[in-house]
Amino acid sequence: MKSNDQIFRFLIDHTPIRGQLISLDASWQKCYQQSDASEYAKELLGHALAAVTLLASTLKIDGSLTLQIRGQGAIHLLVAQATNDRTIRGLVRQSHEIENPDASLQEIFKADKIVITIDNGKGKPHQGIAPLTGFSLSEALEAYFEHSEQLPTRVWLASNESSASGLLLQKLPGELEDKDSWNRLTQLASTITDQELLELDENEILYRLFHEESIALFDAEPVRFQCSCSRNKTSNMIKSLGKSEASDILHEQGKIQISCEFCNANYEFDSVDVKQLFESDMNLPENYTTH
Ligand SMILES: [Zn+2]
Repeated sequence: MKSNDQIFRFLIDHTPIRGQLISLDASWQKCYQQSDASEYAKELLGHALAAVTLLASTLKIDGSLTLQIRGQGAIHLLVAQATNDRTIRGLVRQSHEIENPDASLQEIFKADKIVITIDNGKGKPHQGIAPLTGFSLSEALEAYFEHSEQLPTRVWLASNESSASGLLLQKLPGELEDKDSWNRLTQLASTITDQELLELDENEILYRLFHEESIALFDAEPVRFQCSCSRNKTSNMIKSLGKSEASDILHEQGKIQISCEFCNANYEFDSVDVKQLFESDMNLPENYTTH
């Protein structure tokens, strides 16, 4: 039986190679069902979510890791986020049909970079930029690792309507006892098919790929969907619009209604709520007030 919504870490004995396997299921379906983009765009979102969960876990981040591609193309926004609590959320936005599905990611997004932001909640978030290269997110992410982490890393990603799965192999610093092991193991891993990655359980995948190796497989770590939106954060967004713009919207629509694009939560503010928001602002000490 396949383990749902779990990450597995493993080590390959006698090599400095570590790996991770992930399957997002219920957590992924939540993101999948909320999107009205094309199947192609949703497949990319699944890849991105599997990738950020693998990245967040490999880099042992504290806080959140967000992958974002923003462009002017048929798909113009892709956001995937994972946290150190192993929660995920993501969205993809498409404005028109993709004319050539064999086009490169750069052409499909009309963008040339992937922005990876690590926010530990203290100070300025760390932003890494990787060129958007190739035809798949795994290619683009391998390039990112090569530049920023300098640890040889290979990633395999697959997604369909029920799961988003991934496999990551990384070579840690240090002499290889067995000089050919990295090549051999990555070549073996490359024989995995999307269907196997999506349907087999962790033991079956590891056996299928590396049955001649001795592997230490660690306990599963659960992953779940969770959105970090809140009424409080939405209030702050309204405050940042400014009093006059907020009044204009109230005047036109009778209330301010903001729904979260990650989870569809709906936040409503009537004229009393909005008045309170801006009044509480005025109660702040004078040097807090911005004009
Ligand atoms: Zn939300």
